[in-house]
Amino acid sequence: MTLFGAHVDPADPLAAAQEIGAEIIQVNIGDPQSWKAPAPRFPWDLEEFGARAAEAGIGIYVHSPFVINVASTNNRIRIPSRKLLQQHLDAAARLGAWGVIVHGGHVTANDPMEAGFENWFKAVDGLRIEVPLLIENTAGGNHAMARRWENLARLWQAISTSNNAKRVGFCLDTCHAHASGNPLQGLVDDVLAITGRIDLVHLNDSRDTEGSGADRHANLGKGQADPDWLVEVMRRAQAPAILETPSEGHTDDLEWIRSRV
Ligand SMILES: [Zn+2]
Repeated sequence: MTLFGAHVDPADPLAAAQEIGAEIIQVNIGDPQSWKAPAPRFPWDLEEFGARAAEAGIGIYVHSPFVINVASTNNRIRIPSRKLLQQHLDAAARLGAWGVIVHGGHVTANDPMEAGFENWFKAVDGLRIEVPLLIENTAGGNHAMARRWENLARLWQAISTSNNAKRVGFCLDTCHAHASGNPLQGLVDDVLAITGRIDLVHLNDSRDTEGSGADRHANLGKGQADPDWLVEVMRRAQAPAILETPSEGHTDDLEWIRSRV
């Protein structure tokens, strides 16, 4: 049976999970826009939160901050990115989380893409990874590591030579795939041909048209992604799914997908 859930507010994630009937949740354990070390907003320490979640039968994923870009050729971005990612991996381990999600990141127009893949290898190789690190595909940008599949293939190739490669997995975001111009039709097969694994789906509809490059999530069936193909992605991915859609629609979204898969 596929597990479903949503990204929830960190103030009381377990109450939020129970309210919408989620089996898994995704949380931020720090300010998603900041370089500051994790400072969870929930009213327990990490171990207690983990124990409470386990008791409630709820699996937890941690989304790392958006500022992280381990691909960057700029030392002042890349080095703090690795540090912040390590802090999130460590905190997630204390929590007993099922995975830490990080965006693929990008280089700038003046850099060769290869520099970004090399930086990813070094990051993975140097990290202490006790909880699976799940790299997520992104929606826009011409120099992104994990937007176009030909680049994802090069990224995966670079990482595969690290001793830590087995601890790195993939998070497939359906809105980002649609917006980036990767058709949902055949999506899972295209990804599996590269990564060999999909550990988590970020199940989101898209407010914008295919190929728009815009990262704006919509509730399921309310956006521009083909609803039949969203369902087909879930059938084929054989992975748990987290909604990152507007939260007022989470209950409807969970019912929408559960009734179709
Ligand atoms: Zn996502």
